[in-house]
Amino acid sequence: MSRPACATIHTDALQHNLAEVRRRAPSSRVMAVVKADGYGHGLERVAQALAAADAFGVASIADAERIRATGSSKPIVLLSGFFEPEDLRLIRRLGLDTVVHDESQLEMLEADPDPSPLRLWVKFDSGMHRLGFPLDKARAVVERVHALGRPGPAPVWMTHFARSDEFDAPATAEQIRRFDAALAGIPGERSLSNSAAVLGWPQASRDWVRVGGALYGLSVVAGRSGADFGLQPAMSLSSRLIAINEVQAGEAVGYGGTWRAPATTRLGIAAIGYGDGYPRHAPSGTPVLIHGRPARIAGRVSMDLLAIDLADHPEARVGDAVLLWGPGLPVEAVAEAAGTIGYELTCGITRRVRFIEA
Ligand SMILES: *Cc1c(COP(=O)(O)O)cnc(C)c1O
Repeated sequence: MSRPACATIHTDALQHNLAEVRRRAPSSRVMAVVKADGYGHGLERVAQALAAADAFGVASIADAERIRATGSSKPIVLLSGFFEPEDLRLIRRLGLDTVVHDESQLEMLEADPDPSPLRLWVKFDSGMHRLGFPLDKARAVVERVHALGRPGPAPVWMTHFARSDEFDAPATAEQIRRFDAALAGIPGERSLSNSAAVLGWPQASRDWVRVGGALYGLSVVAGRSGADFGLQPAMSLSSRLIAINEVQAGEAVGYGGTWRAPATTRLGIAAIGYGDGYPRHAPSGTPVLIHGRPARIAGRVSMDLLAIDLADHPEARVGDAVLLWGPGLPVEAVAEAAGTIGYELTCGITRRVRFIEA
């Protein structure tokens, strides 16, 4: 048998989640964000499953090339834009849209001799202070973009939220207010929202929403899983028990001996570890599911293996399946125990894990 660590990708969940996003943002078109290999779910399979989205968002030209290779002619937006004039040639050859967020990119466009159409998504900084033109320069930037005088689709004005997962904090309302004020009266489509904004700030859903996490069934809202918002997990991570041992009361388990058996304990050893992308920072007590019921990991996660306290699973046998996350066990629960977010965990699944579609 091959190594049993397995990521099952639920394409029906991707489609369900797209429908749920449309239900929550009924007047918006949906850009499906598929950067980082579709948040670790596999770029080509995600792009095919989400063929009903209105556009794709990627972080690299190489990813856009992979989507084009599947035969898709859908709009693809380069979310970080281009970095040198040579990129513009590739962008045109692949028929991509690009974000423009920096003076250096505007200058490259102004110096670009190619008159063929190119759709620009012009990004303003409304308070996140990562990418984007300052809003007090918005009118000058809009004028320079119009002065490029390109035929083809009109530019889209966009911004990005820093704290849209905090539904009670005023920061997002303030970003919306600043963006609207700076661009008041300027015609053209607008795009503000990421997943958390679609879930918590429906007033920000304008012409386009840009959603990644929600499509994969993920939540970044503290204490809430994707399922709490009607989303379905698009990934199940599973493996199998490859050994069952009995340890005596007081014996220490695993590297560093960080967990001690409180009594004589049956321990199951599952063939999965941080070499597969399961987080090494997941402490003793992090949940897994065996036969649909929770069990807890015991001791440090190692590269290929982790130990599970089988005290409540007398029926467990070598060969039994262990669910690390998926339906019934939100990745957010594992992420919270490991001090991160679900996004990082799905993005981090490594190449030795077998991917299957269901
Ligand atoms: C990644 C990204 C998104 C998607 O964010 P989610 O939280 O996954 O929905 C949207 N917009 C931009 C600019 C991004 O970089």
